[in-house]
Amino acid sequence: MTRRPDIQREGDMDLSFLDEVRVVPGGEKIVDCIQCGTCSGSCPTSYLMEDSPRDLFYKIRAGLRNEVLKSPDIWLCTSCYMCYVRCPKNIKVTDIMYALKRISSKERFSLQWRGYHLAKSFMSVVNRDGRNNETELLLRFFLKTKPFGLIRNSLIGLKLWLRGRMPMMPHRIKEIKKFRAIMAKAESLSTM
Ligand code: SF4
Ligand code: SF4
Repeated sequence: MTRRPDIQREGDMDLSFLDEVRVVPGGEKIVDCIQCGTCSGSCPTSYLMEDSPRDLFYKIRAGLRNEVLKSPDIWLCTSCYMCYVRCPKNIKVTDIMYALKRISSKERFSLQWRGYHLAKSFMSVVNRDGRNNETELLLRFFLKTKPFGLIRNSLIGLKLWLRGRMPMMPHRIKEIKKFRAIMAKAESLSTM
């Protein structure tokens, strides 16, 4: 069920948050949101969210900065772009979800969420080798979030390994220096 912000909590409000989101790449049109809910209705993971994209945008406009940035829901966005292509106001919903992830990560709002640790683990492996390594990704993720999950899932891991789906050794791409230069450039653009 949608949880609307309590407008009495003026102390929680930061009305400059809307401007903060508007200046990130893709965020400029958030003020055009008509709360139609097409994004939330199209989102394959919204059934897991307490606040779907529409609700998050409502809270951004209400200035509920901390509540939005602490939300586990922003980490449930899988960048499928369904919201992006269907929004009747051409709002770049996915880009805004990722901007929220970046701000939340930078300000360390999300340390308790598993989605955050999965994303951080993935980026660590990819930044180092230029590609993912599923075995290392899962090891890093489980060690940071729930180490006992490693034991529980070890049989599945073994079966995948026997079928060649869980590589033991990482493989680095040939042009790793160029790849890292691209990533560094992207990182600098995202923080502009
Ligand atoms: S689909 Fe677009 S206009 Fe509709 S609620 Fe989502 S962001 Fe707002
Ligand atoms: S891009 Fe993210 S927010 Fe948009 S529909 Fe896909 S999962 Fe949902």
